[in-house]
Amino acid sequence: MLKDRKARPQGVGQSRIHNFGAGPAVLPLSVMQEVQEALPNLDGSGFGLCEISHRSATFQSVVDSAMARIRRVLSVPDDYTILFLQGGASLQFYMTALNLLKPDEQADFLETGGWSKKAIGEANRVGIPHNIWSDSENGFRSVPSDSDYTVSEDSIYFHYTSNNTLMGTQYHHLPDSGGKPRVVDASSDIAGVPIDVSAHDIIYAGAQKNLGPSGVTLVILSPWALARAQENSDAGRLPTMLDYTVHASKGSLFNTPNTFGIFVLDCVFKWLEENGGLEGAIARNRAKSSLIYEELDSDEMWIPHAEKSSRSVMNVTWRCANEELESVFLSEAETAGLGGLKGHRSVGGIRASLYNGCPIESVKALVEFMRDFSERYS
Ligand SMILES: *Cc1c(COP(=O)(O)O)cnc(C)c1O
Repeated sequence: MLKDRKARPQGVGQSRIHNFGAGPAVLPLSVMQEVQEALPNLDGSGFGLCEISHRSATFQSVVDSAMARIRRVLSVPDDYTILFLQGGASLQFYMTALNLLKPDEQADFLETGGWSKKAIGEANRVGIPHNIWSDSENGFRSVPSDSDYTVSEDSIYFHYTSNNTLMGTQYHHLPDSGGKPRVVDASSDIAGVPIDVSAHDIIYAGAQKNLGPSGVTLVILSPWALARAQENSDAGRLPTMLDYTVHASKGSLFNTPNTFGIFVLDCVFKWLEENGGLEGAIARNRAKSSLIYEELDSDEMWIPHAEKSSRSVMNVTWRCANEELESVFLSEAETAGLGGLKGHRSVGGIRASLYNGCPIESVKALVEFMRDFSERYS
């Protein structure tokens, strides 16, 4: 039976849960309050946030502000292009290949989980993807070191997934691309870990993990990437909406963008700037994840999924030694005000996502709950 969305039990919505969901995910409370204020009236324009033209000067200043903040916080080089697109990272799997490859050209991929697998699948519709390293037989518990793979001489670019949201693994170094341009899916760790934008040619990220709501995708292009797109565009190979050069030439306003999402993105980057910038976020995320990993390593109740050297600071994944206890853990956690902890079906168990918006207080509450749970059930 369909339930009326408003007919919720009393109490839900009265207090916020400790939200460890993998995405859409928790955002800073101050950002939610800023959105609340802008909903009926954006920046004193008299137009509500969801009711204003994307062609208005008021909205243009939101776009300009968001782009400027992203440039500052992530140190995006001046000659790189920032785009706000739609279709999620899932569309970028296809769009990156379509814009960069010409017929029968090749690209290299590192397969470190479900998302990189999908990126390979989409590139296969356009050109020839080489899967040059895969951890599938090891249950995707690790990411490779540079000596574990060889980049193909004939490849046009090199693609990797910086943080594997489902598996809880992450690179802690810039992977060697053998001199080829780097393309990265940074959906779940952008603005949460160190990144050298200038060492990449395309960075793409769905916003709903670390940056804002779903429905807006941040894409950052180097001059090389834009030039490749231009060649494919000139050859008539790109549908208008899948052509980076179209969106770039119109400042992401070729068609109606996700105006709401771009506003939230601007608020999130403002919050980042007010809280120590990228360095601040990196330090907070390290502190949060260490608290949980220390707990996992010190109690035989828990079995961490990722190999130590590949552990993610954004998504921590683990099982209970007694797997039957996992459902008990999840339901008791929810009752205790800790939500979104169910692991992805491809890994099972428990996953705590610790994106930028997740406060350390939530993590402390989780660790306390884990200790209490372990005492009661071991
Ligand atoms: C969530 C996620 C995706 C999928 O993003 P959509 O916006 O739903 O298309 C792709 N890659 C990674 C690394 C993700 O975390």
